[in-house]
Amino acid sequence: AKQDDGTSFRFYDQQFHISAGKQLEMEADLRTALRAGDLELYYQPRVELATGDVRGVECLLRWNHPRLGMVMPDEFIPLAERSGLIVPIGYWVIDQACQRLRELADLGFAELVLAVNLSFRQFHDRKMTETIFRIIYNANIDTSLLELELTESAMMHDPDYARQCLRELNELGVNFALDDFGTGFSSLSNLQHFPIALVKIDKSFVQGLGESVDSEHIIRAIISLAHSLDMNVVAEGVETYAQMEFLRLLNCDHVQGYYFARPMPWGKLVPFLRNQRQS
Ligand code: C2E
Ligand code: CA
Ligand code: CA
Ligand code: CA
Repeated sequence: AKQDDGTSFRFYDQQFHISAGKQLEMEADLRTALRAGDLELYYQPRVELATGDVRGVECLLRWNHPRLGMVMPDEFIPLAERSGLIVPIGYWVIDQACQRLRELADLGFAELVLAVNLSFRQFHDRKMTETIFRIIYNANIDTSLLELELTESAMMHDPDYARQCLRELNELGVNFALDDFGTGFSSLSNLQHFPIALVKIDKSFVQGLGESVDSEHIIRAIISLAHSLDMNVVAEGVETYAQMEFLRLLNCDHVQGYYFARPMPWGKLVPFLRNQRQS
């Protein structure tokens, strides 16, 4: 992102690098962005290793700031979480994903899963399941094609409430994926009590493959544990052929990363999918 005067301007670690005034300004901008339609979803395909087919797509939020250009989620999600704006933004994301699911079905991609990220902060809204239910219901989609990704810490903040939310939504057909797995360290046995269908191995481990023996051991352990609990595994951040082959050897189910495709706007996704289907 660039400032008006052209100097490079990063939002990382904004608590430390950006003044309170600047933060308030960004927060006001973000509030406007939601109303003005400056938020956009990008889509990153996920590939099934056994077949090479695209089975799912993760929705990743982008902010087209009128002055700063495209702002990445690591730069504004923390701000949205602190201000609570992530709650309405999160509903917008789910609504948008449901509309895209509808469009995909109409285009003949009726079995493609769309995955959306959920923030821990969205669980603070006690009407979360009710609101999500309403969005899904209005969109008239196959609910089993909507997947919600959340981290261990998002669930462990208030495990009882989280478990209740997940169970209610799961009863409607919605699936859940555990994001960034391996970075937190909650007891794995806890996870049995949550309706989780999929585990996503954090990219830091994938990128350690071939470089550190630990990464290989951790990935191997996660995959065997997940499989014993009847969960599928996605490895994220796959950037090379060697990483993909390593993951195949370790019995990983799905892969996602720049090696296959970068996150892309909606206009590029449909041609991408058509092209994949032909090859
Ligand atoms: P995440 O859920 O772990 O998403 C994966 C991130 O890795 C994405 O960054 C993606 O663009 C990036 N990535 C994908 N393949 C590769 C690869 O091969 N190499 C590398 N180095 N990176 C790869 P992105 O889009 O910047 O999103 C960052 C984070 O922001 C996400 O991490 C997620 O935690 C959060 N986020 C994104 N969209 C949303 C949203 O709609 N709601 C919420 N609450 N959080 C979101
Ligand atoms: Ca994710
Ligand atoms: Ca991740
Ligand atoms: Ca993350």
